[in-house]
Parts: sequence; structure tokens; C-alpha cells
Amino acid sequence: MSEGASRRDVLATAGIGALFAAAAGSQSQAADYERAAPAGAPGANKSVEFYPPATDHGNLGALRFSFEDAYTRRTEAGWAREVTIRQFPIAKTVAGVNMRLPKGAVRELHWHKQAEWAFMLSGKARITAVDQEARTFIDDVEAGDLWFFPGGIPHSIQGLGDDGCEFLLAFDDGAFSEDSTFLITDWLAHTPRDVLAKNFGVDASVFDHIPPHELYIFNAPLPKPLAAERAESSRPDVPNSFSFKFMQQPPIKTRGGSVRIADRNNFKASQTMSAAFVEVNPGGMRELHWHPLADEWQYYISGRARMTVFASRGEANTVDFRPRDVGYVPRAMGHYIENIGDEPLRFLEIFANGQYSDVSLSSWIANTPHTLVAAHLGLDAAMLARIPQTKTPVVPV
Ligand code: MN
Ligand code: MN
Repeated sequence: MSEGASRRDVLATAGIGALFAAAAGSQSQAADYERAAPAGAPGANKSVEFYPPATDHGNLGALRFSFEDAYTRRTEAGWAREVTIRQFPIAKTVAGVNMRLPKGAVRELHWHKQAEWAFMLSGKARITAVDQEARTFIDDVEAGDLWFFPGGIPHSIQGLGDDGCEFLLAFDDGAFSEDSTFLITDWLAHTPRDVLAKNFGVDASVFDHIPPHELYIFNAPLPKPLAAERAESSRPDVPNSFSFKFMQQPPIKTRGGSVRIADRNNFKASQTMSAAFVEVNPGGMRELHWHPLADEWQYYISGRARMTVFASRGEANTVDFRPRDVGYVPRAMGHYIENIGDEPLRFLEIFANGQYSDVSLSSWIANTPHTLVAAHLGLDAAMLARIPQTKTPVVPV
């Protein structure tokens, strides 16, 4: 992969190395790519000639958008960039945000209508929330961990460790914008001081120094140890943790790779969103399948991928992916994702539905009368009898 091995590939690979080193408890931090504000790497994704396969037909519009082509909002403390329906029109059900919080930087206390599902890409963070029963949640999350905040639940994120963190957020509405969330500073700045005084039972002068505008991402003192911060509230914890150790889930493994699933069955707080973390070995493929319940919003973490989306009426479009790309597959449209590189392919499938669900072409025909299938496709019944009848999400089996 000489001409394809761009700076971007190399750097992204360093990042995922750091992810798994961190997940294993190592202090190793080789990832430099996420330490600076993203530069855009001009031309990095445009140099390889791409010929769609002859089986393609029709035009489904853009099925890929890169975070590197998204506008980056910087503050003194960190940065964020978003891929929403405004940048990527096909993505109606999910919007994504990529955020970097260096050590101490806080994504300020806020809430939003949409649910927030998150995957830690690197580093470490302290997250907090309080639910509608005034139950509390505080935890530290590391690379590979998830969190989920239901719509309307107020929360915060703060970068910890030597160098803070970088993470991916997904929201269950393509029209979400990170720039229009409800911020605690913004609300107080736009509430009469005498009302604030009455609300908290104090003198209005207490509020003489509140910020006149939102902070959004700002530098703050590092938090106390987890136990000390938890001890500050006498209220019970939320009944289902808002954080989740995704990498500790036993994967479905095949020779071709592995799939971990997080949905409301194992990550109980995540009632309205679900995800799969997929690893495909070189030469392997996420098998032909579709999702009956929800559109699929993809985030490519490492490696190189090729996907064809089959949209019925003879329409099928093929697109290639690199790290930091977002892909999208509307509900029920058939697709596969092939590792076309020489390193492991890792990506997330994210759904605005709490129940993960897919239908496999392979297990469909293996469990349908073989004479019937053979009559459709002109296949040999003996070949059909050899297809595994159980789910095999990544091939080869
Ligand atoms: Mn949020
Ligand atoms: Mn899929």
C-alpha cells in the first residue's frame, strides 16, 4: 500500500494502538495525531483511483463523509467538530461529534433533547450526570469504554490523565447540533439575578461573577479522586450505570474477525441506542447482511474498508473508507464491509435503536428449504448444506 500509506493512515494507526494499549492498562501513549487540532491533511483521501465494480448501478448520493472535512470549532481549551444532516444529508437518524479535551479541559455542564452515545477513542475522562430522580452518576472512562446519557439528562465531561482524551459522540437525531445544546452558563446568564437569588435562597450579589456568556469547552481544576467526588452527594446512584466497559464484552469470534455488541440487553442504560464494535482481519469481511430495525451510522477507526450498499430496484453503490470517515446505510438496505488493507479494520456500527439487530444473508438461505433456494439461484444443494446455520458476522468462518 505504498501510495495509499498516507500520513493520515500512519497517524490513525498510532491512535488505535494507543486505544488498545490504554484498554489493557498500559501507560503507553504513542498517539500524536489527536494531540493537535486537526489540520485536514489536504488530498489525503483523494489520491487513490477508485473504480466501482461492474455490479454497481444507479446513484445513491454520498454514503461517506470524513470528520477531516468537517469544520473544527476551537476554544482555548479544546476542539470539536460535527457530522450532521447538514454535512451528510443521508444521515437522518444519527449525528456525530468528534471532540478533544486536553488534561483538565471541561465540556461544560449541559443537556440536550437527543440521547448521547459515546466511544472513547483515546485517553481518559471524568463524566458526571444527575437524573430526573436526583440520582447521581460519576465515573472515569478510558479508551474503548462507552457512555450513554438519555435525552434531557444533564452531564459533563472532563479530560484526565497526562493528556486528556479524544472521543466520538453519536446522537439519535441527524439534525442534532453540538452548537445548540442547553448550557448551564448560558441559562444563568439569561436569567434575571433576582430570580436566581430567589431560586437558591441567597442574595443576588452571589451571582455578580457568573460568566456573561457560555464557556462550552474551558480549562478547570482537575477533579478530586472519584470516591471523594461521589461522597459529596448523599443521593443514590442512577439504577443503571451510564458507562460501559465495551472491550470487556465477550466478542462473537470467527477466523475473519470479531464483533462486540452493546445494546439495551447488556448496557441497560442505553435504551434508545445500540452499537457493534467490529474487527475484520486482512482479507476478511463483515458478511452480507442488513438491519431490520434502524439505519446504520458507521465510524471508521483504523484500517481500510470497502462497502457496497444494495438499495433495491437494481441500485447498488460501492464506496471506500479510511480512518475518521463516517458511513451510512439506510434501514434494511443490504451491505457488506470488506477489509481491503493489510492491517486490521476496526469500525463502529451505531443505531438509533436500543435493540441491536441484523439479518444475515448466509443464515437466511442456510435455514430456508434448500430446494427452494437452489431453484432461485441455480445453486447446488450440497453447497447450501455446508453454509453455517448460526450467525457468522465476519467471514471467513
Ligand atoms: Mn452532551
Ligand atoms: Mn451493517
